[in-house]
Amino acid sequence: MAISRAITMDTSPSLNAFHKVSDRIAAACRGAARDVSSVTLVAVSKTYDAPAITPILDAGHRIFGENRVQEAKSKWPQLRQGYDGIELHLIGPLQSNKVSEAVFLFDVIQSVDRPKIAEMLAREMEQQKKKLRLFLQINTGDESQKSGVPLADADRFIEYCMGMLPVEGLMCIPPVTDSAPKHFAILARLAHDHRLTSLSMGMSSDFESAIACGATHVRVGSAIFGAR
Ligand SMILES: *Cc1c(COP(=O)(O)O)cnc(C)c1O
Repeated sequence: MAISRAITMDTSPSLNAFHKVSDRIAAACRGAARDVSSVTLVAVSKTYDAPAITPILDAGHRIFGENRVQEAKSKWPQLRQGYDGIELHLIGPLQSNKVSEAVFLFDVIQSVDRPKIAEMLAREMEQQKKKLRLFLQINTGDESQKSGVPLADADRFIEYCMGMLPVEGLMCIPPVTDSAPKHFAILARLAHDHRLTSLSMGMSSDFESAIACGATHVRVGSAIFGAR
């Protein structure tokens, strides 16, 4: 068993890529004079199933992200049976009819972006006696097609949620057409203003720059699992 597991690890492309990403995160932390332990890698496993994910679990990583409730439901309850301590993050939009399932399936929700969802989460966590960690998603580029609370409403929304929920931090997805660091700085400023310590920003293409801007959580998918 131990031998076959070692062979699987050595030959797993996702595990090799995972180690490369981890090394790059460590280098970015050194470059920013930050402790490596101050940045959490959320391995985004959306569209990939167990054979791609288990080598990374076997290597000891436990923090993963999914963008769809249904997909998480089809994969993670089973994976949790084989591995202790999994921490699953919802990073995609949350519809009101999925709030109950999301509270059941996830440990962290990063995409809270409207009062109704915040209210439903508060109720559902109470009902299920389960306390999730929450990030509020800010639409720093005010893109109409993107989820996240518009920048103009951000202060009010953050205050509203903090009065009712265990808000840990803020999350953003910068517009692809704009300079990412500008948006990372906007998010960092907002978090600072509201004394929130966690910042989820940075994906495969820009996690090093996000770390330089203060990211505490980077959400990396394709650089680990391959193109989708
Ligand atoms: C898919 C996704 C990611 C990861 O994107 P990659 O470019 O594959 O690293 C990060 N955040 C969110 C919200 C996503 O949906």
